[in-house]
Amino acid sequence: MQTAAIADPSLVRAAAVGHDTMSDTPARVKDRAPAAVVVDVDLCKACGICVELCPKDVFDSDALGRPVVARLSDCTSCAFCERHCPDFAIEIVRAGDGS
Ligand code: SF4
Ligand code: SF4
Repeated sequence: MQTAAIADPSLVRAAAVGHDTMSDTPARVKDRAPAAVVVDVDLCKACGICVELCPKDVFDSDALGRPVVARLSDCTSCAFCERHCPDFAIEIVRAGDGS
């Protein structure tokens, strides 16, 4: 299975960790920030739903229309994208998930 951490333009899975730089972000938001937002590019059909629905504007789109995590530190782990992806192509990996 080919996966990608969508923060990485090379679309190779990589967990983006650490939110120490979010010094101006409330602690309750920091606590909810995920370790990674991962897209399975084999499942993603580039429908754009996740990009449109994310309330924090975390995603940009790549040249093929697939989501790219451009602002992971803004993600609040609401899982709206994960729940609404029609192809189950997004996984929110939370700290402590062991993923
Ligand atoms: S909602 Fe799912 S299938 Fe659609 S672009 Fe996002 S990850 Fe891909
Ligand atoms: S979990 Fe919520 S805030 Fe994070 S990328 Fe998905 S929709 Fe956006």
